[in-house]
Amino acid sequence: MLVDGYGRKVDYLRVSVTERCNFRCQYCMPEKPFSWVPKENLLSYEELFKFVKVSIDEGISKVRITGGEPLLREGLENFIKMIADYKEGIDLALTTNAYLLPAAAQKLADAGLRRINVSLDSLKDEVAAKIAQKDVLKTVLKGIQAASDVGLKIKVNCVPMKGINDGELIDLLEYCKERGYPIRFIEYMENKHATDIAKGLNSETIQNIIKEKYNFKKLERSGSSPSQDYQLDDGYIFGIIEPHKDDFCATCNRIRLTASGVLIPCLYFEDSQSIKEAIKANDIDKAALILKDVLANKPEKNKWSEEDGTETSSRAFYETGG
Ligand code: SAM
Ligand code: SF4
Repeated sequence: MLVDGYGRKVDYLRVSVTERCNFRCQYCMPEKPFSWVPKENLLSYEELFKFVKVSIDEGISKVRITGGEPLLREGLENFIKMIADYKEGIDLALTTNAYLLPAAAQKLADAGLRRINVSLDSLKDEVAAKIAQKDVLKTVLKGIQAASDVGLKIKVNCVPMKGINDGELIDLLEYCKERGYPIRFIEYMENKHATDIAKGLNSETIQNIIKEKYNFKKLERSGSSPSQDYQLDDGYIFGIIEPHKDDFCATCNRIRLTASGVLIPCLYFEDSQSIKEAIKANDIDKAALILKDVLANKPEKNKWSEEDGTETSSRAFYETGG
């Protein structure tokens, strides 16, 4: 079992397979970065898998593949198969913007993927295009349908933003409710890569919008899910991810690995260590030691607002996998 310096059990590894993306979301990667990490600096799938194995052997039971846009990296289904075949019962999931799902869904399901989280911020063509800075909605909806058709379990992520998609939260909730997909509204997390037009809605505002049409009750928090769940009178459950709340970090159970092999204990914390050399040298003991060291260094709380609330992350979400 992996435990951090504050006694939190860590059983969840998020692996970013690429920082590249085919969208330019206002809140994440509004402009193409000045340079990408050169391909030769990325770990291969075999190398990433070596570290995933170490992590699973040490106590990780949940692995999420993310990015950037993970489906942009060729052969992702091979990586998924490696993990799915390694140990039965590993909770393996993928976070994607769904744009490439129409062609990829079947391959992913065949490789052993069972669950995906898709980002869906609007159901209006022009609003989705404004957020992603590309005409994406029709293809995204086709992608979600393709995933559903091959039996993938779907959850939807939405980042509500003032004056952009805040008039659509009920429509988004209903789109998901009709299809049986849980939706989670994520409070916008300030970061210096986002544009100035990205201004988030806090949890209370999101709840007030939903209250205009639905009664709901707050559910007890379960396990280490980052989402605070709420249940409508008809039983449908939606969630709000509230990283601005004081207790958000108390149940944090995750660490992040970037595509170039950097192990990050917290999104809003600058320290990290590379497992690249250890993995390339096939030094599994060293990789396990680095993993434990990074966990020992995991901060009690994120460091984004400890001063005056204006501190933001210098690390990009597309780099760490959100
Ligand atoms: N490209 C994939 C996608 O969009 O689902 C996976 C990577 S993306 C970085 C992972 C998640 O981070 C998405 O759900 C996205 O909405 C969320 N995200 C990105 N930037 C964010 C921000 N500034 N605040 C809150 N959530 C953010
Ligand atoms: Fe790309 Fe996902 Fe970031 Fe949007 S949120 S720019 S889809 S990585």
